[in-house]
Amino acid sequence: MSIQELESQFTSGVYTKRPIAIVRGRGARLWDSDENEYIDCVGGQGAANLGHANPAIVEAITAQAKTLISCPEMFYNDRRAELEAKLISLAPPGMTRVFLSNSGTEAVEAALKFARLATKRTEIVAAMRGFHGRTFGALSATWEKKYREPFEPLVPGFSHISYNDIAALDEAIDHKTAAVILEVVQGEGGVRPGTPEFLGKAQELCRERGALLILDEIQTGFGRTGKMFACEHYNLEPDLMCLAKSIAGGLPMGATLINSRIGELPSQVHGSTFGGNPLACAASLAAIDYLQSHHLPEHAAELGAWFLNELRQIESPLIREVRGLGLMVGIELKQKVTPYLQALMARGVLALPAGLTVMRFLPPLVIEQSDLEKVVQAVGEVLSHEVN
Ligand SMILES: *Cc1c(COP(=O)(O)O)cnc(C)c1O
Repeated sequence: MSIQELESQFTSGVYTKRPIAIVRGRGARLWDSDENEYIDCVGGQGAANLGHANPAIVEAITAQAKTLISCPEMFYNDRRAELEAKLISLAPPGMTRVFLSNSGTEAVEAALKFARLATKRTEIVAAMRGFHGRTFGALSATWEKKYREPFEPLVPGFSHISYNDIAALDEAIDHKTAAVILEVVQGEGGVRPGTPEFLGKAQELCRERGALLILDEIQTGFGRTGKMFACEHYNLEPDLMCLAKSIAGGLPMGATLINSRIGELPSQVHGSTFGGNPLACAASLAAIDYLQSHHLPEHAAELGAWFLNELRQIESPLIREVRGLGLMVGIELKQKVTPYLQALMARGVLALPAGLTVMRFLPPLVIEQSDLEKVVQAVGEVLSHEVN
């Protein structure tokens, strides 16, 4: 039985899958079970900023696995202590504490709970086209109907305003608002960068009205947009910041960073068995060290600007807009994106959708310009004529 037949028989069915089995990776390249080679612009949906089989990550994971894998937070741990200090040293000014978990949605869940605790308010303002995860709290902040509706009723108290709409913000934030949760660049919602005015105003209004600003940097963090965190482009100082995806070189991990404006959190109010495990912490330390020592955020800024410019040169009646920040890039088409993603795959390039009409590129930040040149060429070819 083939890999695909076996997996199809037993998988939950909640994923739309492509008809290839990826079995091996190196840097920004992936191979399927038939030894076909691909340039990877899916990048583990944002979890593979460090590249596949990065030797520094492999070495850190191997060494830590031989030393200690499990250590719940009822004990202190050397790797965890080191990582928490490191995250705070990198974070925007004012961040003082860290809650560690295992995924993006958990990082958001923690932020929402801490915001309600700290403000003693219940309402959360989120954005249309926002994506924050699939567990009930994070899902309540997520906009997309098809993710939400099958599971209603969701958590009460959530409302959604139009992204980049300052007047809507002003109207939505009041004395009942616990927090405003926003992505700095909307990812799943179509690669839409926030405007400095909108994000700045969100922070200002939160401060003024006693609400907290939660930034979801799960996709934009760890060099993706050309800075370690995207909020650095805007000089934002959020009250809570959610991290995951590439935080631990591809291993599952989430983190919620907590600002000094949030009072002490009572012990026992939240927790996670796997949260802060030494294996993920060691991987994260190695990932951050690699990002910094190889200047990957700067590389993403330069290469991303070049890539965006090259894509904008493509003349195609199918393109509505090309946009992005760093190596987080989207091409909005005037029609559905799926056939074009299939055509790209046939040319050895893996990219992902962001909604129905946006082609999204999240290559590992270690990708070389020569590979992106091939991607530009392939995109030009597949967008040169209409496919169904
Ligand atoms: C992927 C993502 C999440 C959810 O992360 P999971 O690890 O899949 O739970 C939340 N917010 C943003 C912005 C994301 O891109």
